[in-house]
Amino acid sequence: MTNEETKKDFIRDWIAKDIAKGHYKAPITRFPPEPNGYLHIGHAKAICLDFGVANEYAQQGAVCHLRFDDTNPCKEDVEFVNSIQEDIKWLGFDWGEHLYWASDIFDFYYECAVHLIKNGLAYVDEQDREAIRQQRGDLITPGTNSPYRDRPIEESLAQFEAMKAGKFPEGGAVLRAKIDMASSNMNMRDPVIYRICYDPHHNTGTTWCIYPMYDFAHPLEDAHEFISHSLCTLEFEDHRPLYEWVIEHCPIPAGSRPQQREFSRLNITYTVMSKRLLRSMVEEGLVSGWDDPRMPTICGMRRRGYPAKAVVDFCVGVGITKFPAITDVARLENAVRSELNTHAERRMAVLNPLKLVLTNLPDGHEEEVEVAINPEKEELGNRKITLTKEVWIEQDDFMVEPPKKYKRLSPGACVRLRGGYCIVCTDYVADADGKVTEVHAEILPGTIGTNPPEGIRCKGAIHWVSAKYGVKAEVRLYDRLFKNETPANDPETFRDDINPDSLTVLTNAVVEPALAQAAPEFHCQFERTGYFVTDRYDHSPEHPVFNRAVGLRDSWAKMNK
Ligand code: ATP
Ligand code: MG
Repeated sequence: MTNEETKKDFIRDWIAKDIAKGHYKAPITRFPPEPNGYLHIGHAKAICLDFGVANEYAQQGAVCHLRFDDTNPCKEDVEFVNSIQEDIKWLGFDWGEHLYWASDIFDFYYECAVHLIKNGLAYVDEQDREAIRQQRGDLITPGTNSPYRDRPIEESLAQFEAMKAGKFPEGGAVLRAKIDMASSNMNMRDPVIYRICYDPHHNTGTTWCIYPMYDFAHPLEDAHEFISHSLCTLEFEDHRPLYEWVIEHCPIPAGSRPQQREFSRLNITYTVMSKRLLRSMVEEGLVSGWDDPRMPTICGMRRRGYPAKAVVDFCVGVGITKFPAITDVARLENAVRSELNTHAERRMAVLNPLKLVLTNLPDGHEEEVEVAINPEKEELGNRKITLTKEVWIEQDDFMVEPPKKYKRLSPGACVRLRGGYCIVCTDYVADADGKVTEVHAEILPGTIGTNPPEGIRCKGAIHWVSAKYGVKAEVRLYDRLFKNETPANDPETFRDDINPDSLTVLTNAVVEPALAQAAPEFHCQFERTGYFVTDRYDHSPEHPVFNRAVGLRDSWAKMNK
């Protein structure tokens, strides 16, 4: 990611001002995923911002930390830790040595909690959840004080110690910050900052049975790591006063002054992004896994054949604002198309093969013809492919009774075999049901690279693969996972919006022979049919597998007109 590509936004302006005023030498940011799922494209937006800002100030010593926010033993799973790291690296970002675990500083949160109690700023509340909830009040009614609010400091200290020692059952007591039960901000009405949980923690086992709440742990993690600018999504805006309260009242390291700002989440049409729904789709087998190429996860997009650069370009292009918005998924697909158009080599593959016999070539005829490796990059030159008497063409490149503007093959019509001769269709063979099983044509000699003789109009060029040398392949055509522009973000009803045609598997495709040898994750354009990638896991020379990343054009735009 280079600086020129990065647009200025209110977050970057804010940081630039802080640096100019000398408040910080360089920004220290962090990306704080909870290891409870795979990263999705929304996370990619946050990653591009957090790491992007740090890269822009790298000369001044800026860094972006990767922090696993693993303070909740009931929800997390280390399964996700490796994938998160792999995905961030794949996007092209690097945390260097700055990898942190929120669970490494349980002692520090505890010390801060004790400090608050000693200063009369926190108390142990032994009421149950329901009672606490009822006393919270609502937006118009102020809350009411807990009967424990004014208990003596010593008593809270002793009871907090008892919580830690496992003397209470889960839910039997909590630690609450003593702020203001009448605050217009609900988050400031004596929020719970510690609770009891007896689930073992993946890092600390059963050492602890009290755990800090997110709103308490997060600012302290930031302070402990000397984060300067803590960037998060809009839903945390109302939590900012609490964030600042914690920073102000806790014994954080000298010189550490983290500040929080919020930007709007990325939402995309035809996509669900909530981890919870993504997880249901995986668990119910609606997709093949977190890395199913239809998933909005980073590993899914990678497997689909989206280049990392395209994902980053898209995230940067969407920009950072404070307005909730839904971005058209076509923008993401266009970023993919644009990147692959420039960088993907061209190949020929026939997805639904129909045999074409060039009747005026001798049996056993073989001839090398040349086609451009990538017309966008002339310096790459040409590649050679072998033309034989029998070739495969697409079934829909031939019609017995074509409509008027049909530019492909039909009886009597002339087309060019891409890179080869112009040919004229002379005959076809059909089965008992009228299905065409073979097409016959004659080549027009001397027409490679030049026009046919006067009087013959060559309508267009079609792609082909030698029947003798072509290799059979599996081709997976992916489409959008949801048919609805704004799928229900609801665990009960989102299934109704799933596109039943989001995957078509073709098992009879034929590809240029060299493609079978391609490494996994080789990107290419199949001429006239789209951009494809060899499957990261399933592709092999014996069983070539190609995934379609995107079509050459936005077919949904046409459909919706
Ligand atoms: P989800 O709501 O999908 O479960 P989350 O916010 O719980 O996601 P975290 O692992 O806590 O997931 O997220 C890590 C970081 O990524 C947070 O700073 C969060 O704000 C950011 N993030 C998550 N989703 C999006 C999104 N859609 N757009 C931008 N940033 C996001
Ligand atoms: Mg979260």
